[in-house]
Amino acid sequence: MTRDEALALDAADPLAPLREQFSLPPGVIYLDGNSLGVLPKATAARVQQVVQQEWGVDLIRSWNSAGWMDLPQRVGDKIARLVGAGAGELVVADSTSVNLFKVLSAALSMAQADTPKRRRIVSERSNFPTDLYIAESLARERGYELVLVEADELPAALDEHCAVLMLTHVNYRSGRMHDMAGLSRAAADAGALTVWDLAHSAGAVPVDLHTDGADFAIGCGYKYLNGGPGAPAFVWAHPRHAERFWQPLAGWMGHAAPFEFTPGYRPAAGISRYLCGTPAVLSLAALECGVDTVLAAESLGGMTALRRKSLALTRLFAEQVQATCPGLTLVSPRDDAQRGSQVCLSHAEIAYPVVQALIARGVIGDFRAGDTSHPAGAVDILRFGFTPLYLRFVDAWDAAEHLRQVLDSGEWQRPEFNRRHAVT
Ligand SMILES: *Cc1c(COP(=O)(O)O)cnc(C)c1O
Repeated sequence: MTRDEALALDAADPLAPLREQFSLPPGVIYLDGNSLGVLPKATAARVQQVVQQEWGVDLIRSWNSAGWMDLPQRVGDKIARLVGAGAGELVVADSTSVNLFKVLSAALSMAQADTPKRRRIVSERSNFPTDLYIAESLARERGYELVLVEADELPAALDEHCAVLMLTHVNYRSGRMHDMAGLSRAAADAGALTVWDLAHSAGAVPVDLHTDGADFAIGCGYKYLNGGPGAPAFVWAHPRHAERFWQPLAGWMGHAAPFEFTPGYRPAAGISRYLCGTPAVLSLAALECGVDTVLAAESLGGMTALRRKSLALTRLFAEQVQATCPGLTLVSPRDDAQRGSQVCLSHAEIAYPVVQALIARGVIGDFRAGDTSHPAGAVDILRFGFTPLYLRFVDAWDAAEHLRQVLDSGEWQRPEFNRRHAVT
């Protein structure tokens, strides 16, 4: 493809106006929205309003008058529209890690009651480490075994020992997307519950939790939902489990009537019991602005249209790189149906300095170290996330061209690109 052809795709793109919602720094091609989404233009003014008026002037009255108390549910209802959940089924609270602890605890308690002989949590070896750490510690505490397998081995691991299948829908490293419907059905047929992490899915790929038969789901607010650094996360449990989805962090905000101040805990009905402490109002206000940028696509075809563009962007980038950078290997799936919204490349030795050299050129992707403990995940990765809300086809084309120039010129060899930072 030529650069002019990429520009023509942008001219014909019905989603192009959505980019106007964002405050993108000039000269930057941002391919890291899968790690920290871009700042929406509306966020600064909204947060300022919450700080100056709602907090500064109205003070504690704002819990009622400004609707602070309902923020976890209100923003939750908006996210629900993006993941195939119903209103009142999803709340925003805490972090992804903490929410995983809650839903996995709930799933284990249900499994313990229904299928006490099943003692395994099954997950993928290359799942995001925090997910594996939480599962490992819960498994230890509750007398379960965490069994890690490769993606292709998952169906076989759904046997009479499996209590819970815990997966991240789109793999953070490879960008590979699981068949949520197929695996949820296979798990249910095998008698196991499913916990899905939507960190790289919500706002990036269409998700239909009800149709796909998931039991529990969690997800991240600061990636494709553009909620800002450390934005609170979300949590969903299928309403068919409403009478049973106990979770252990029984804080007062998850109580049926927090302002009765009774000594005994009575869980709120439904998903609100997954709240624990006081909501992070400033962060929730920022997250709502971020979620609104995704909902703005609803009149233009919603997640289906965003997905179409995302696939076209990742395809364009992957094809350009393959045509011009022979030293790089495509790690993310070629097959559209298996690819999330990112492109991952590998290089035997120089992945880290190449990413640093690109960042110096204003092309921001990231580096993910290989897991040397296992051959299947050993390779270092150059990771590029494509957010269809604000990326143009010409950005994908230019990013591939920068990558070619970094490799051909050898500029990645400069010492400053070979010094490791704390956050990669
Ligand atoms: C980003 C991400 C997280 C982040 O968890 P935090 O609690 O927000 O730090 C968790 N799981 C997966 C799969 C992620 O991609």
